[in-house]
Amino acid sequence: LDLVAGQFASGLGTARAFEAERRRAESLAELDRAKTAFFSDVSHELRTPLTLLLGPISDVLADPADPLPPSARDQLELALRNGQRLQRLVDDLMDVASIEAGRAGAVRVPTDLAAFTAELAGVLRAATERAGLRLSVDCPPLDRPVHVDPRMWEKVVLNLLSNAVKYTFVGGIQLVLRGEPDQVVLTVTDTGIGIPADELPRVFDRFHRVQGSLARHREGTGIGLALVRELAGLHGGTVTVASEPGAGSTFTVAVPYGSPDAPADPVAPSSA
Ligand code: ADP
Repeated sequence: LDLVAGQFASGLGTARAFEAERRRAESLAELDRAKTAFFSDVSHELRTPLTLLLGPISDVLADPADPLPPSARDQLELALRNGQRLQRLVDDLMDVASIEAGRAGAVRVPTDLAAFTAELAGVLRAATERAGLRLSVDCPPLDRPVHVDPRMWEKVVLNLLSNAVKYTFVGGIQLVLRGEPDQVVLTVTDTGIGIPADELPRVFDRFHRVQGSLARHREGTGIGLALVRELAGLHGGTVTVASEPGAGSTFTVAVPYGSPDAPADPVAPSSA
């Protein structure tokens, strides 16, 4: 009997512990929702005044009828550059917030991913060359379309490439896109500063930046890779990294070919 009573008591204990754990998980989830809503609200509030601030500055800078004294131009260009930086940060925060709130389902459309990716790499070619780095792009045509949300794919590619440029001081960057039987694999390899092994698991965490390294000399927020991971995940894909300090890093994104998203309103099947 004692044994049974003991088991009963320990069963009760387990049930209580389970209930306490469930409550804890619920309140953590609640906190998380509140934090996401806060991010989203703050970013929204920042966006409008920023646009109103930067619009007139770029208008003044672009006005040929009203040339500025060189010192004023320098100051305004500095203000514009930093304001645009802030704008990008706000945009990234809003993306993270809306993905977390589950509002940003990927809207996948059939895409010629090889051509699109090569085009995106082209956007960063000038910046890469200005930084004294080589950029090699290898995106042979794929045998079928890939279903991606173009705006999200653009963020994935541009975030990885701009990191590669940012954290590489000599050498170059190589972007490769390959079709495999079940998935498409994008790799971005650089000859940059690399990431220490113990930091590797955390680089995809939001706001995480590698401590005490050369990386600190570059401006950043630690949002980019978190966003890449979220976006890859929304496509049913993954992102991984391999790296050697002092030699360079390779980021690999794998996404399935996928299928188009179901239209919001069901339509009658066509005769095709
Ligand atoms: P950010 O670049 O804004 O700091 P990310 O989320 O894009 O944020 O990257 C997180 C951290 O991972 C960076 O701060 C940097 O320490 C490291 N990192 C990212 N990409 C690279 C890379 N290509 N080479 C070396 N370190 C990198």
